[in-house]
Amino acid sequence: MDLNYTPEDVAYRKQVRAWLEENLPREEVRTLDDRRRWHRKLYEAGYLGMGWPKEVGGAGARPMEQAIVADEMARVNAPAPTNGLGLGIVGPTIVVHGTDAQKQRYLKKILTAEELWCQLYSEPNAGSDLAALKTSAVDAGDHFVVNGQKIWTSSGAVADWGLLLARTDTKVAKHKGISCFLMNMRQPGVDVRPLKQITGSSEFCEVFMTNARVEKADQIGKLGEGWAIAQTTLGYERGGRALARVTSYQSQHHRLVAAARRLKRHGKALIDDPLVRQKLGRIWADLEVERYGALRTLTMLERGEHPGAGGSLTKLSYSELEKRFMDLAMEILGPYGQLTDGAPEEFRLEIDTAVGDRGTWAYAYLWSRAGTIYAGSSEIQKNVIGERILGLPKETRADRPGAAR
Ligand SMILES: Cc1cc2nc3c(=O)[nH]c(=O)nc-3n(C[C@H](O)[C@H](O)[C@H](O)COP(=O)(O)OP(=O)(O)OC[C@H]3O[C@@H](n4cnc5c(N)ncnc54)[C@H](O)[C@@H]3O)c2cc1C
Repeated sequence: MDLNYTPEDVAYRKQVRAWLEENLPREEVRTLDDRRRWHRKLYEAGYLGMGWPKEVGGAGARPMEQAIVADEMARVNAPAPTNGLGLGIVGPTIVVHGTDAQKQRYLKKILTAEELWCQLYSEPNAGSDLAALKTSAVDAGDHFVVNGQKIWTSSGAVADWGLLLARTDTKVAKHKGISCFLMNMRQPGVDVRPLKQITGSSEFCEVFMTNARVEKADQIGKLGEGWAIAQTTLGYERGGRALARVTSYQSQHHRLVAAARRLKRHGKALIDDPLVRQKLGRIWADLEVERYGALRTLTMLERGEHPGAGGSLTKLSYSELEKRFMDLAMEILGPYGQLTDGAPEEFRLEIDTAVGDRGTWAYAYLWSRAGTIYAGSSEIQKNVIGERILGLPKETRADRPGAAR
């Protein structure tokens, strides 16, 4: 593990910082069109699809360069680009498993946000146990006919295309009968219904497919390989933005400390309460541990190694930490955490919610639960860590929640 940045990395960071100073949107990025414009700017500067090969429109950048861009964006609280699932999951899946024709057809339009994507994996009875999925894709000669239901589809309401897992064989072991497809969301057989979330926003959807059509040319990999392909996709979800995440949490922490200085209870500033100080210190220490964990992952990636099950450690620790951090924020702020316009800066949390609203501390608190569920819940990460890192015995069906004892 190397904690020093090379002179090239330092120079690259300076260059990125200067670009952001020049180009960061001065106005609020609220609508999808605003976000597309900002996305396009980032793409033209070479800051999107950075790790993808140059031949397909990426920048062929090193993991460290990607981390530096994400980190600098977090430092200035830059809005995220749109098409997060296209960039983070679908694109890399096509890069690794797609045909040349698929790469030609889809990748550039993901990078430019001309086409927005969603991920059609989870179903009402197939989340953690994804291999139980029931949506079917039946061969109809030159295309497949798709029937079934997906749920928790982020960005489903705006997506033009979806990365779909569907069952193509019911006679083999459940994970062997799944295939992967690219499905046009803008067709009569696809009905998208937004779901209202606890945060008040509706970026999730239910997606109902009734005799929907998927072209044969849009099958990814071979029939029955969908499970293996999904594992790479989920791998991308678990990798990633670790360093940038710590940077944003730390700047939020600074705001929380400022709020604790301003707020008084029983005539005394909260920051002078030893318990509050201790709790704030604890979160800061945890964040520092996260930073070193992120640097360790980055060092591995730079060496061309894959973090493997170690990704589960990162996912588990940051998502649980985010929850503890937001619990503390609510404890300190109380109702001040709901303030928006006109409130002092430290009582607002200008986080980018990627849904056209800059969020409050209360929003972030409600949202913080999500990290412990998506891309493999905390319990699932613990299973992976137990089995693949600690070498504990494998979970059996009887160990699962709800199993008869
Ligand atoms: C913010 C967010 C965005 C999402 N976006 C998408 C998306 O775009 N596309 C998509 O397809 N899906 C998406 N999902 C769905 C997500 O992948 C699932 O919610 C997740 O896989 C968990 O599945 P589930 O909700 O069905 O819960 P379940 O699998 O039913 O789990 C319920 C509870 O049981 C626990 N549990 C389950 N199995 C075990 C076990 N074997 N051992 C111990 N405990 C267990 C879980 O940890 C959890 O606490 C998203 C979810 C969230 C929160």
